[in-house]
Amino acid sequence: MRTDETMVDWKLTFLGTAASAMSLQQNPTTLLVTVGNNHVLIECAEGTTRRLIEAGIDMKAIDKVFISHGHNDHFIGIMTFLWQNVLVARREAPLEIIAPGYVLDRITTLFKLTSTPDDFINFELRFTDIDAEELFSEHELLFTPSPGTINGWKMTRRHAPLVHDPAAHAIRIDIKDEDDVHVVSFCYACDTSPTDSVARLAEGCDYLIHEATLLDEDIELATRINHSTPSGVGQVASLAGVENLVLVHYSLSLAGKEEVLKEQAKRTFAGNIIIARDMMSLPLEQ
Ligand SMILES: [Zn+2]
Ligand SMILES: [Zn+2]
Repeated sequence: MRTDETMVDWKLTFLGTAASAMSLQQNPTTLLVTVGNNHVLIECAEGTTRRLIEAGIDMKAIDKVFISHGHNDHFIGIMTFLWQNVLVARREAPLEIIAPGYVLDRITTLFKLTSTPDDFINFELRFTDIDAEELFSEHELLFTPSPGTINGWKMTRRHAPLVHDPAAHAIRIDIKDEDDVHVVSFCYACDTSPTDSVARLAEGCDYLIHEATLLDEDIELATRINHSTPSGVGQVASLAGVENLVLVHYSLSLAGKEEVLKEQAKRTFAGNIIIARDMMSLPLEQ
């Protein structure tokens, strides 16, 4: 990470950190990447729109939405987000949704299920199908109205397959300055069992943001339902050689046991370990 981070003003906010459900303290897992005045939303769980309002984010300044897979806790907030963009934010700029093809199909179905009129979305909605793209290859994220490079930075994305059912993808985002110099990189993997594909995608990242749905003592259940436990995630982080491991998407039953999650990840990872909390932002304030 560059020490003169003020050159490119970036932030990653956890709008939600829970697995599968919600409490007053935790929304289901959703992240917001902010660079300058542009945002990329990672997942769109139920409650995301309300969290964005709480965080004071201008909805129409979100250019991209990445959705990892088709489980309820990762994308069911999308219709509320779209309706809010039309009715309140009065969006005009295009919005790109990047997701596996079957998720894009389900969003199209949601338009029908929610009786959303055909002409209701009065801005351009672009669908990018990850399945149709070469995994691990780098794609530049172009922002509206101007590419990031014009504003002194650029952002790229890469994806890798996860071990989950239904099919899920990880995303790696690299932010560079206008001279192509590295500013920060993070990889988000959720939901999945620990897998080499994430270690490969996250290689050398500043932050690996990985699910840890259950504790090590529940490894059998976690494996059966394609989720991870802290020491399995620590192994992936060690293999990838990342600086910071951020655990997210932990079960509501683990609220108050954040230190246990951390201790278990320490069994296999010697770097810095952070337990994500709702409305926390990276970089952490010193
Ligand atoms: Zn989930
Ligand atoms: Zn899932």
